[in-house]
Amino acid sequence: MITFLSGGTGTPKLLRGVQKVMDRHEISVVVNTAEDIWISGNHISPDVDTVMYLFAGVLNTDTWWGLRDDTFTTHEEILKLGLGEYIAIGDRDRAVHIARGNMLRDGQRLTNITRTLCDRFGVRENVLPMTDTEVTTRVKTELGLIHYQEYWVRSKGRIQIEDVVRCSKIPPESTEEVIQAVEASDAVVIGPSNPITSITPILECNGIREAMVDKFVIAVSPFIGDAPVSGPAAALMKASGYEATSAGTAQCYGDLVDLFVQDERDPVKIDGAVRFDTLMTGEEKSIELAKNVLRLARQQGSDT
Ligand code: GDP
Repeated sequence: MITFLSGGTGTPKLLRGVQKVMDRHEISVVVNTAEDIWISGNHISPDVDTVMYLFAGVLNTDTWWGLRDDTFTTHEEILKLGLGEYIAIGDRDRAVHIARGNMLRDGQRLTNITRTLCDRFGVRENVLPMTDTEVTTRVKTELGLIHYQEYWVRSKGRIQIEDVVRCSKIPPESTEEVIQAVEASDAVVIGPSNPITSITPILECNGIREAMVDKFVIAVSPFIGDAPVSGPAAALMKASGYEATSAGTAQCYGDLVDLFVQDERDPVKIDGAVRFDTLMTGEEKSIELAKNVLRLARQQGSDT
């Protein structure tokens, strides 16, 4: 078993390759939930949905969110009614959010809800929300402390961020299922996701770091040079006091990581890092990187 830590774009691109070269039952993914949000009365867990749809073979891999060939009739009607829904939600995607919202209101754990939804989509991989505790990434901007989705989706990342704040009523705990998956794994792979909004929230859940300490941990950088491959990671890294590079990423993860993977084009030098082509522009590239990362995970993981 290998456990992956994932957000909703970079690591899912790697998982697209992993899925083709690994037994589905040997794949566990711990997914960030700090971008979750209630919209129009329903519950969106964007990163969980992306990973679930990917494994189910129904993800829109042009955008890396939502279902392929979905329609937006309800969203368009909501806008006509003047109810600002700033995230474009597809009709079939919304059905998942309605189901999740109802199950949460019934008092079910997000972990069990995710399992139910994955079963309905025929997903055999072990998709695990990082925690059952509600936790939200907010950013401090001139508009005040706003949800990350308001910054990135509503404001399109065009406003300055002064700070990144994680908000939860009680400290988030890693679930028993997450700890068991990590403990049963030969290695843990931190995929090329946003270090501040996708990976750090997972590592902040009580228990996971302790479970990872004895494991062989590989991290793949989401940066090439001083820019992320996509998205707002540079602004978030700077607002959190890190350089927006692979070096800043390595510093952010610290000694939890045993082997750092960076892109072969990256001008930033990290001692001991392994270099591959990490730019996953299509399925073949994802498979190639997955094979390289899994080879390292299996070789090194069996030695620890
Ligand atoms: P989010 O939840 O949508 O923010 O997605 P993630 O946190 O999972 O992924 C965002 C990160 O993925 C960004 O920082 C990108 O730089 C990185 N990323 C996207 N595509 C690639 C790729 O092909 N290669 C690498 N190395 N990183 C990528």
